[in-house]
Formats: sequence, structure tokens, C-alpha cells
Amino acid sequence: MKLYPLFADLTGRPVLVVGGGVVGERKAAALLDAGARVTVGAPHLHPTLQAWVEQGRISWRAGTFEDAWLDDAWLVVAATADSVLHKRIAALAEARRVFVNVVDDATLSSFHVPAVIDRAPVTIAISSGGHAPMLARLLRERLEVLIDPVMGPLASLLANMRSRIRARLPDLTARRRFYEHLLGGPVLSLLRRQQQALAEAAAERLLETATVSPTGSVVLLGAGPGDPGLLTLRGLRALNEADVILHDRLVSAEVLALARRDAERIEVAKQAGNHHTTQAQIHALMLEHAAAGRRVVRLKGGDPFVFGRGGEELEFLRGHGIPYEVVPGITAALACAAYAGVPLTHRDHAQSVRLVTAHCQGSVNTLDWQALAQERQTLAVYMGTSELPVLQQQLMAHGRAGSTPFALVENGSRPEQRVITGTLSSLAERASAYEVRSPALLIIGEVAALATSLAWFGRAPLGAKLPLSSVAPQALIA
Ligand code: SAH
Repeated sequence: MKLYPLFADLTGRPVLVVGGGVVGERKAAALLDAGARVTVGAPHLHPTLQAWVEQGRISWRAGTFEDAWLDDAWLVVAATADSVLHKRIAALAEARRVFVNVVDDATLSSFHVPAVIDRAPVTIAISSGGHAPMLARLLRERLEVLIDPVMGPLASLLANMRSRIRARLPDLTARRRFYEHLLGGPVLSLLRRQQQALAEAAAERLLETATVSPTGSVVLLGAGPGDPGLLTLRGLRALNEADVILHDRLVSAEVLALARRDAERIEVAKQAGNHHTTQAQIHALMLEHAAAGRRVVRLKGGDPFVFGRGGEELEFLRGHGIPYEVVPGITAALACAAYAGVPLTHRDHAQSVRLVTAHCQGSVNTLDWQALAQERQTLAVYMGTSELPVLQQQLMAHGRAGSTPFALVENGSRPEQRVITGTLSSLAERASAYEVRSPALLIIGEVAALATSLAWFGRAPLGAKLPLSSVAPQALIA
């Protein structure tokens, strides 16, 4: 069930609650809070409801339900203990196009009542679509702690300034910056101290000095290997402040989902398959948007400075006087090693790590094979899978033993991660047998053998003798 969220203005509008018990009372209370004209229909009333009738806060239709009760209602809530009556009310409401909420019955209800975080006039409503109301309530409890109580007073303060803010800052981006400064500035702390007048003055000052045409900038941001949990906090913040996001194909949908909703997302695929964007076009896009005052996030898989052409992009920005910053990301070698249970260095096996790419055409021929074939080091190879046969052959030709273990990690840190293990002499053959696809990272060296015993994420390594379930406990002890 997917629901369309809406906030209803019930001020002065008649609403009917059928049922005079505690549930009816709770529903009536919330409706009164929203300013509705509440009528409770029931043969008898709970004492609190009775008192409200006497105070004139609600009206009472005494007796059993009659169809005519629905006549002038905008909404109806069925809160009795009678399920047959509930069905009848739901059917009648449906026929008359009156929205109905049947307590504890999502299927009979045409509207649900969410769990609410009240920072009036700011309201946050949570629904589980009727599937797990308890979960919605737990979420509400967590959010209660997170949402600053002064959000309500802040919204009221801004209501008075709204038209002036629009007049002074017609540009949407400029307006957004103003609101961001407002949230980071002294206004909130003044409101917390109940210093309303000072808070208003501070907000006015901020508006007077706000930049009318904002300057653009570029954040070169590493998205990590896929698991959104591996994005840095600073990265998350940049994604939430972005006006435009230029992202590679390698960036996972889960990471993109963390970005500001109305940021413009542009995929700049450099790999084959999807439409092709050249590096020059990427430069031009960064320049175009930053020059128009937007905050651009150039989002790359892994780390922008590890086989990411980040250096070239910064040189370009520097040449054009565009301000920039760099937020590192977790590079594929680190992530794939961690998620495959392979320590890249190890006191007994490897004292150094090399990050190597065998990616671009020609790069395979320029590699220093002699150095790469040395023992007691780990190679982390970023590559297209087509280079594997050359890699295997060259390393062995330069003296690396055919018995050297490897772990090939496909889609590292993602739900579909696969790890293929074996020894160098069978590398190309095993990769093709398992049809390994990009993105895949190859780890070669004695440490790669540990993938078999230290695996903890996803499926057991292919090639492992033990199923993961019997490996995991040892891995936890180790
Ligand atoms: N800047 C990136 C690397 C870009 S080169 C980084 O720091 O990770 C692209 C190569 O990175 C891919 O061909 C693959 O070898 C590797 N790679 C990136 N993400 C990966 C992932 N989730 N799993 C395995 N390899 C990955």
C-alpha cells in the first residue's frame, strides 16, 4: 500500500468521531488540537468526552450510528469496538466520498493517521502504510530526539519575513544559501534562549547582508565503493548542500539516494555502454554550473585521487579560478580487502601494498613487471577483467610463483559482492569460468589466502572449501 501524504487544514470543519470510549477520546483530542469542529456520536460518553460536551468544546450525537450523521462531515473516524458497524461506516463513507479512518483497520481506512512529531507550525508525520504502526512510533521516538525543539519558533519567525526574503533574494540558490546560513548562525541559539526580539534582529541582519548572486564552487567527492555506510560524514554534508551532482556510473544508487532531493543529477559515464561523456565535456559541465553560482559536487567512485583523474579536474578548475575542495573516499582496494576479509599488510606475509592499474590501453605495457613480481608485497590491481591473462602471464614470467594466492573481488561492499579465490597460475581461467564482470578488484599476494578463513560479508568466497556458516565463527575469534 503506497499512500499519498497530505496535511489537512481542518480549522472550523466538521469531523465525526463514532465511538465514545478512550480511543474515541484520543482521536477527538488530536482533531480538536488541529482546530476541527468535532462531533462524537455514541450512546454513552467517556467522562472526559462528557466534560468536553459540557464545556462546549465538542458536540454529542447521543444514540447508535445513523447514516445521516455523515451528512456534513469532511472526515470520519470509526472508533468503536463493533467491527460490523465499522464495515458499514467505511462503505457509507466511500459512497459519499468522505475520507474515513477505521481504528486498527488499515484496509477499511481511506486515510491513515501518522505518528507525529509536533514542532508547530512544523509537523513531521511518519507512516508505515499500515504495515507496522509500532515501527512508525519507534521512528518517531528517535526523530523526536533529533529535531531541535526551536524549529517551531524558527518557522513562525520566518513566516513574518517570507515575502521580504523572496523580494531580496529572487534567485533560488541564493535563497537556499540564506536559509542554510540561518540554520548555522546565531538565530537558533537566541531562540533557544527565548530571546525572540534578538533572534528576529539577527535574522534581519542576515537577510540584509545575504549574497544576492552566490558564487559557485566544486567539491571533488569520493563516494566510496558502493556501500553507502562507507561515505564520509563530510561527503554526506556536501551531497546535501549540492545544487548539481555530476556522477560517474560507478557511484551506487544507494549513495546517490543520500543526496539532496532536488539537486540536479547528471550521469557522466566514461565507460562504454552508456552514452559517452569525454573528460573535456565533464570539465565544461563543471565550469558551466559553477560559473552560474551553483554548488557542484563532482562525485566519483572510491577516492577521487586514486585512478580517478581528480588531479586533472582540479588543474582545470584552478585554471578557471573556480573554488574547490576535495573530500576523500574509501578507495576500492581498501573496501574490497576489508569486505573480503583480506588484510592488505601482514607481519608474516606482506610489508607493502601497491595500488596498480592495468586499466587503460597501453598501461599494461608500461608497468614495471620486475618490481610488481617481487615477493612479500600485496598488489591491489584496479582493472578491466580483460587484462587478467596478460597480468598472470607477465607476473609469472618475471618470477612470481604460480602458487601465489589471489582474491578477485567483484562488486566489493555491495549486496551482490562475489569473491573468487585461487592461485596465480589459475587466475585467468577461474575469472572466466565465473564470468567475472567489472567492477572487480584483484588482490595478489600471500594475504589473499586469508579470504577463505576471514570472510564475513555476503556469500562465501568461491573456491573456499568451507561454507561461510562454518567459517564465520573462526573469523570472529581470529
Ligand atoms: N577512484 C576509484 C577507482 C576508479 S578505476 C577508487 O578509488 O576506487 C575503476 C576501477 O576501480 C574498477 O575497474 C575496479 O577495478 C575498481 N572498483 C571500483 N569500485 C569497485 C567495487 N565496488 N568493487 C570492485 N572493484 C571496484
